[in-house]
Amino acid sequence: MSSKSLLAEMRQVQLAIDLIELGARLQVLETETDLSRARLIRLFKEIRGMSPPKGMLPFSTDWFITWMPNIHSSLFYNTFLRLQKDQGCERMEAFISAYRLYAEQVEIDGAETVLGLTRAWTLIRFFESDLLQLSACTRCAGHFVAHAHSPTHDYVCGICQPPSRAGKTRKRQQSVADRKPAKASPLPLDHRMA
Ligand SMILES: [Zn+2]
Repeated sequence: MSSKSLLAEMRQVQLAIDLIELGARLQVLETETDLSRARLIRLFKEIRGMSPPKGMLPFSTDWFITWMPNIHSSLFYNTFLRLQKDQGCERMEAFISAYRLYAEQVEIDGAETVLGLTRAWTLIRFFESDLLQLSACTRCAGHFVAHAHSPTHDYVCGICQPPSRAGKTRKRQQSVADRKPAKASPLPLDHRMA
């Protein structure tokens, strides 16, 4: 094996290790690395001390639009974009850094890690498949995850206008008339999404 291909393989292994440590499912590892399934399973067992869980990944875009998941997803996705645009990070490098920053921020805020790593990965895949878009909030100007092709002219985010029964997630695309006035932000996240 040439030193060049050895280096490339070491990078692949490092990527897999980073992803496993952050909680990636096997499907994420198989998609994002060139390593064999058997090797990935071995790595997974070594790092996590258990076999990778079986089962399908969550496939619906709706989860990302519900209230609290939307706030967390938007925070993560804005960070992911910024790392690529401003820092020149490559896609997976930006993904791992953005996820670490998100997890750190949630810990600092004393909040729950609503967005797991595999969900975060599904989120960027949905953007890459044009199933989701970022919509600018007309009140705070922050950018939030929304269904692709949804109208943006009167969009108000879940921080500026939380659901009346905050805590129970519900879809945002409902009539504005039956909403109560906006309450205080549940998390001080809004300034990071502008
Ligand atoms: Zn807003």
